[in-house]
Amino acid sequence: MNSTDLSNPYQELGVSENSSREEIKRAYQRLVLKVHPDKLDESLSQEDRDKAYKRFLAIDKAWKILNNQETRADCDRQLKEQGLSQDWPVSDEVDLDDMEYHEDTESYSSVCRCSGEYVISESDLENGHNIVCCSNCTLSIRVLYNALSDDASNGR
Ligand SMILES: [Zn+2]
Repeated sequence: MNSTDLSNPYQELGVSENSSREEIKRAYQRLVLKVHPDKLDESLSQEDRDKAYKRFLAIDKAWKILNNQETRADCDRQLKEQGLSQDWPVSDEVDLDDMEYHEDTESYSSVCRCSGEYVISESDLENGHNIVCCSNCTLSIRVLYNALSDDASNGR
């Protein structure tokens, strides 16, 4: 896995990671009209043209990534990994006791204020992860828990 400076194509297009392809397409079309080399105002300086062109390339690249299901899924995964390894801005702290446990997936979940979901698996917790990104918006939470002890007593 290379550590290229991955820009966030969702941010680039001003859409959310949950946006449908149709929404993303509309956002792309709206943005690209403003910076397309053929659509620029005659009076713009060369510097502004260069800036617009850079923006055009970035928007175009973002659209190409998100327009393709495979590259979009790949991008989602990379963003998630990046998010988890980064010092992500944390919007809230939630006690593990207040999260819902799902036996089938061995994970805990909590509902975000956007009605999205925070999900963290037991293995994530065991590996020391405690930052979870919302499945729907850009918020993330820190899960507060006491080091998982292996005491067999099923205490409360
Ligand atoms: Zn959310």
